[in-house]
Amino acid sequence: MEHAVVFGAGLAGLLTARVLADRYERVTIVERDRLTEGPRRGVPQGRHAHALLPRGQQIIEELFPGLTGELVAAGAVPYRPLEEARMVLGGQRMCRAEMPDRGLALTRPFLEDHVRRRLLTLPAVELLDGWDAVGPLFGAGDVVTGAMAGRQGEERTLPADLLVDAMGRAGRAATWLAEAGLERPPVEEVEVNVGYGTCYLTLPQDALGGDFLVLVGCTPANPRGMALFRVEGERWILSAGGMCGDHPPTGPAAFLDFVATIVPPSMPDVLPALRAARLPDEILPARFPKAVRRRFDRLRRPPRGLIAAGDATCSVDPLYGQGMSAAALQAIALRDTLAQGRDDLERRYFRAAMRATDPVWQLALQADLAFPGVPGEPPLLSRMIGRYVARVQRAATRDPSCAIAFARVVGLVDPPSALMRPAVVRLAAKHGSASGSSSG
Ligand SMILES: Cc1cc2nc3c(=O)[nH]c(=O)nc-3n(C[C@H](O)[C@H](O)[C@H](O)COP(=O)(O)OP(=O)(O)OC[C@H]3O[C@@H](n4cnc5c(N)ncnc54)[C@H](O)[C@@H]3O)c2cc1C
Repeated sequence: MEHAVVFGAGLAGLLTARVLADRYERVTIVERDRLTEGPRRGVPQGRHAHALLPRGQQIIEELFPGLTGELVAAGAVPYRPLEEARMVLGGQRMCRAEMPDRGLALTRPFLEDHVRRRLLTLPAVELLDGWDAVGPLFGAGDVVTGAMAGRQGEERTLPADLLVDAMGRAGRAATWLAEAGLERPPVEEVEVNVGYGTCYLTLPQDALGGDFLVLVGCTPANPRGMALFRVEGERWILSAGGMCGDHPPTGPAAFLDFVATIVPPSMPDVLPALRAARLPDEILPARFPKAVRRRFDRLRRPPRGLIAAGDATCSVDPLYGQGMSAAALQAIALRDTLAQGRDDLERRYFRAAMRATDPVWQLALQADLAFPGVPGEPPLLSRMIGRYVARVQRAATRDPSCAIAFARVVGLVDPPSALMRPAVVRLAAKHGSASGSSSG
């Protein structure tokens, strides 16, 4: 029997298990939390606004055909990203445009519950919830031959051909390698010192004149950003955060004052709507000290039988809303790697996963390093690209085609190189001058 074990039933673990179920006779997921519906201890970030970018949504639909329809039927809110959403990125409000891709507004536990339910209909997949991942079992030649799981003094051995570390930022694959005397992957870190505050609200459905989503990104001039959107259950979620230690307060009145410093003047209806709603007494906090990327692709001798996925390999600044989509991109990288056979699987997967998520990391890195409070110098090339991207962003405030091109790159549907297509370069040259762009 070919058996794969996945440690962690977050979004990366679920999507990885889905891909493995096509290639292994059995897939066992080991998850520390008892999995009931709704928010849970192992995914504390799940209480905060989780935007699923268009590419992430496309992949999830590809892996679970019909899931988008199920989510919408259960209350998720579909929206047209440049028609029913207000996006201010890099201090520029993108103009309205008709875009083929659709967004979906929902909460993270709701998404995860639906994905998990669909996954567990596959006969190959078994879930051991309430079990702690103890570690890998190494056989001769440093090959991983299985996994250990434990709960309340009980231990279980799971012989396995492949073990996946999908335990989020707490991922332990690198530590296990070091403990086994093997090479540890190099680590890249960016200290962003992000703080979040979140609450759920009841707002009239038409509070924003038919728009369902407001997104205001941080800029070096104002390192604060916010997301406000309608989610399932007729509720709205409001998350606001700041970089470089500029964190929101947890009292409702002070939190609203913080939000007031973010909402641009071009959206005069947002603050009155929030003030008219009753904010809960406590705003839920979150901290995210640094983005971390573990370079398993650089191991000279990658471990046999052990791979990692999701935040365990690449955990980016949450303000850009890319983490779940990065996990989805890695799942597709694994699917494509497995389609080419099992020889040297681990090395080929780590390289493919790195290629798939590198644009995510680079986009976030380039934006993060522009903040004077974030340690590190952006390389010269990155600074030049940054200046060009700022020009595209300005053009996106005036020209619908440019707004669509930019939104597709930010939504990970197109690679960043799509912004260098001649048509976009022409539009950026024509509409992207600094004078007269509609900031906010
Ligand atoms: C405040 C905040 C806001 C964010 N907003 C967004 C957003 O808008 N959009 C977006 O795409 N991403 C966002 N992210 C990032 C996103 O949450 C992660 O990228 C995503 O959850 C990664 O999924 P994962 O499965 O790798 O890890 P996780 O979702 O963290 O899942 C890890 C799983 O492993 C389990 N686990 C841990 N240790 C063990 C153990 N010893 N044994 C067994 N199981 C274990 C945990 O219980 C959990 O179920 C945000 C993150 C933060 C912090």
